[in-house]
Amino acid sequence: MPLSPASLVELRSASFGYPGRTVVTGVDLTVRPGEVVALLGPNGSGKSTLVRGLLGLTEHQGGEVLLLGTPREQFHEHTRIGYVPQRHSLSAAVRATVTEIVAVGRLPHRPWWRPASSEDRDVVRAAIAAVGLADRADEEVAALSGGQQRRVLIARALAGRPDLLVMDEPTAGVDQVNQLALADVLRRLAADGTSMLVVTHELDALSDVVTRIVCMDAGHLDFDGSPAEYREHLRAHGSGSGHHHDHDHPASSPAGRRVLGDGPLDPAPKAP
Ligand code: ADP
Repeated sequence: MPLSPASLVELRSASFGYPGRTVVTGVDLTVRPGEVVALLGPNGSGKSTLVRGLLGLTEHQGGEVLLLGTPREQFHEHTRIGYVPQRHSLSAAVRATVTEIVAVGRLPHRPWWRPASSEDRDVVRAAIAAVGLADRADEEVAALSGGQQRRVLIARALAGRPDLLVMDEPTAGVDQVNQLALADVLRRLAADGTSMLVVTHELDALSDVVTRIVCMDAGHLDFDGSPAEYREHLRAHGSGSGHHHDHDHPASSPAGRRVLGDGPLDPAPKAP
């Protein structure tokens, strides 16, 4: 395993889906160290199926998947890819503290019989601090808000010291205040050089963080470029062409949103 791989994720004509059904077809996508890639697209276009597919959580139906340069089937350093799933909330019944949950992310780094070392504890503390929850470290997670719990899950992934953090809609269903807090967390991680692949509808909140934008439509990638190229793409394919990539905001989202600080974008409503 190279110490500093040329690519963190490489999909070559990759297809993913479920038994008897292909959802994502023939996707080429490379995520390189230092990149923060936003994956956009309408609901149902296959974003989750894609990110879960590269992690081995949906059926790999064709093409190649390389993780840190190694075919996924032979890739065993699972903590090097951190994953924050989409619909994950910590059960109210879980009576564990923030520190205890985050420490789970550290477990793969040590044999089961070895007690946590001071380094393990430092990594866990740093992960909690990185998501801005240092002052809540000893509280039970059930006492935290949904957005704070999402940050606990990000910290749990960070405790594995991943080369890449894959997040599926980290801001979905989170109120504005916590969305800003989450965006701050991502901004800090990016500043520290953490590579990320983020499925999101909230490009606004992350506009100064993302280095690249990839759009899915009906199981295909139909855009892959820099934020500047994306603005150009929107200008060229803007309203009326069906090329909206950010058009399924929750009903609570304000109208006339701005994407990447580039003027109001008010996508036409589209039937589901
Ligand atoms: P997105 O993340 O872009 O909203 P998804 O990847 O969740 O899209 O879904 C893409 C398609 O895959 C949808 O048509 C959805 O119904 C289908 N799908 C998602 N999960 C499953 C599953 N477990 N079994 C079968 N089909 C699924």
